[in-house]
Amino acid sequence: MASTNPTPTTQPQPQLAAAWDEAQLTSALAHLERLQSQLDSLRFTIPRVLQPFHAPPTPSLFRAFSDNLTASQNDIKDFRKQWQNHDTQTVFQYKRDSLKKDGNLSLKGRGGVDVEEVKKYGWVDREARMKQREGQNGVEKAVESEVLGQADINKIVAEWKGGLEKIAVESKDGDKDLTIMLIASSLRLHFQVLVTQEENGSYKLNAECLGTDVTRLAITRCIKTRPKTNDLRYLLDMIVAYKTVRGTSCFKCERMLDGHAMWTVGRRSREVVGEGKTEVVWEALHEGCLP
Ligand SMILES: [Zn+2]
Repeated sequence: MASTNPTPTTQPQPQLAAAWDEAQLTSALAHLERLQSQLDSLRFTIPRVLQPFHAPPTPSLFRAFSDNLTASQNDIKDFRKQWQNHDTQTVFQYKRDSLKKDGNLSLKGRGGVDVEEVKKYGWVDREARMKQREGQNGVEKAVESEVLGQADINKIVAEWKGGLEKIAVESKDGDKDLTIMLIASSLRLHFQVLVTQEENGSYKLNAECLGTDVTRLAITRCIKTRPKTNDLRYLLDMIVAYKTVRGTSCFKCERMLDGHAMWTVGRRSREVVGEGKTEVVWEALHEGCLP
């Protein structure tokens, strides 16, 4: 669990209500779990800002630097806002008051739960299920339509894996941390995909081609500028397209190498309408030829 010593803020201290019920405690733990996840994703901040400088200067270097800097600043701002908001401060205040009331966190034998038995993760899913049940009972409208639960992630990854050949996938943290290994032309590529939960329950995808050489950094830039940034299946299919795409000449300029002698490090999908059905086709593109 994250440290619970909040930074002093200018916001008024929240008023503490009576003892919380199970639903409120679950929501509080889910809130802290989302905050932890948001904090985890900030570890990409410095590598992301410095990443463009690992490669020789290209016309897109300043844009890549500026985009990464702005995205990192926004992530930090979002985290600070969440840390200082009323919900978070209420949880911290409740914890301080509870500790003051009873500092004994080992409640075994008194019908309670030992604090060490409280799981670190899983509260977001538990809260989503709880809200869904409430919704089904007509107590509260279900608001989880845009929330990707653990089960959704497992389903998307399982369906995606079902169609894979000769691609190794290592999965950790319930499919939220995937390492995908494949050989594209003669290059052995490792991709990492991380799924992190946002404060509002929506999810965010972080993906990169591991390595600091020019080609892999360019691939990472092309992945980060993909459309459908929150579509996990699209991202996974795009990574596979580094292996399965037909031919490596650029779909736009039709050349193998661009002006910097770089091959087609970008991938974009396009819908082709055939006889009665629409097919998704992946195309190879140079970084400078991306739409
Ligand atoms: Zn091109």
